[in-house]
Amino acid sequence: MSLNKKLLLLFISLYLLSIALFTLVSLVAIRHVLIGYAYGYMERYANPIVEFYLEAYKDVDKRIGSLAEDLASEDIGALVVDREGRLISFVPPFGEEMVNLPKLEVFLKEKRGVYENYAFLTKKVGEKYTVILLFRLKSIQKVQDELIGFVVLTASIVSIFILILVPPIIKRFLEPLGYLTSISQKISKEGPLGVEVAEAKTEDELGQLQKAYKDMVDRLKEVITWQVNFMRDITHALNTPLTYIKGQIELISEGFYKGEELKAVLQKLLQQTNRMETLIKKLILLMRLQSEVPLSHRTFYINQLFAELEEEYEFIKESHVFRVEYLLEDALWEGDYDYLKLALANLLENAYKYTPKGGFIRLYYKDDCIVVEDSGVGIEDKEKVFEAFYRENKEKEGFGLGLAIVKAIAQKQGLSIHLESEKGKGSRFHLCKRLNP
Ligand code: ADP
Repeated sequence: MSLNKKLLLLFISLYLLSIALFTLVSLVAIRHVLIGYAYGYMERYANPIVEFYLEAYKDVDKRIGSLAEDLASEDIGALVVDREGRLISFVPPFGEEMVNLPKLEVFLKEKRGVYENYAFLTKKVGEKYTVILLFRLKSIQKVQDELIGFVVLTASIVSIFILILVPPIIKRFLEPLGYLTSISQKISKEGPLGVEVAEAKTEDELGQLQKAYKDMVDRLKEVITWQVNFMRDITHALNTPLTYIKGQIELISEGFYKGEELKAVLQKLLQQTNRMETLIKKLILLMRLQSEVPLSHRTFYINQLFAELEEEYEFIKESHVFRVEYLLEDALWEGDYDYLKLALANLLENAYKYTPKGGFIRLYYKDDCIVVEDSGVGIEDKEKVFEAFYRENKEKEGFGLGLAIVKAIAQKQGLSIHLESEKGKGSRFHLCKRLNP
């Protein structure tokens, strides 16, 4: 059964249940109000009757045969009973009907109430007698029936309107779900690349679902596009050295190179294979960082990290002004020591590679950020430079993977990376604990 039909069924069941409840409550309420009205009516009759009997029974032996007719009403009757519930007198003609009621003492227990088809009210007459006023409920039955008829008619008219209006409303309400189902079917057949999810028209939960779905499909498209481009770049990066290696091996096997020349070619082939190995290692690292590689977590001092980096990159000092600025008051850093060191090593290698001889390179700590600064050639596109295989400076050796690795390490550790750079003046990379440096 479709969701539409299920909701409709649920709605109709709930609606019918609430209508039934409403009618039942109305019935009880109407009856309650009408009986309240009967009590009020009897109250009004009670006083003259009580006065009358008080007068009449001042002397107990003096019997009264009947009461004044004008005190009687079509629907109200009065009986006078003694303490044991024995009938003493009644108001005719209505009272005659009451005389036949069994057990008149039941009326003496309560001040007011309902007994069979009568509402009753009791009033004491002196010490010995009680006047029981009875209201024939049959007379309010007609009003009650009319009111109930009115309630049922109103409920029926409202029901017809609701049952006509609700199905299209439910259908419209479920429209986004139908739309998302058709989009999902399209994606499962053709893939997400050619699919455009429309903007949500509402702000409610279904609108939010459509928005989240759109974001997810857009993100999926981004990832797939990135993967396609990445694969293309990898193929390209591997193909060039492979073609060279293959060509050279063919020439060698044909005896094209001899002696010193052969040695030099073999040397070049070794260089190319080493390059390919580096490329593959970097790719594997990047893939690992982008997948679920677990990071270690420990606390270490920044000066210790700086000292190790200074020692490993001592050679920079031979051609550049390389300054590691230690913290006067050492600070602690939490995270994966080796990966953080790898990221900073990549930044230092780039600073060395893209800063002309004699330029300066600084490694320092400021405002929760580790900064690598250089006075090198600077960077044009500060966003794209972090994408894999994007390179600005093609005169230098490289694959365009270094900064992508730095970014992946930063993301993995919950660090932010921020770049300030000006073409021809230099660059400053900040690796920060805060998300907005
Ligand atoms: P690679 O250095 O192997 O090309 P990277 O991902 O490390 O790859 O860098 C991408 C590009 O960013 C480089 O090709 C270079 O143009 C630019 N770049 C990176 N670091 C610097 C820097 N410190 N100064 C100037 N340009 C840089």
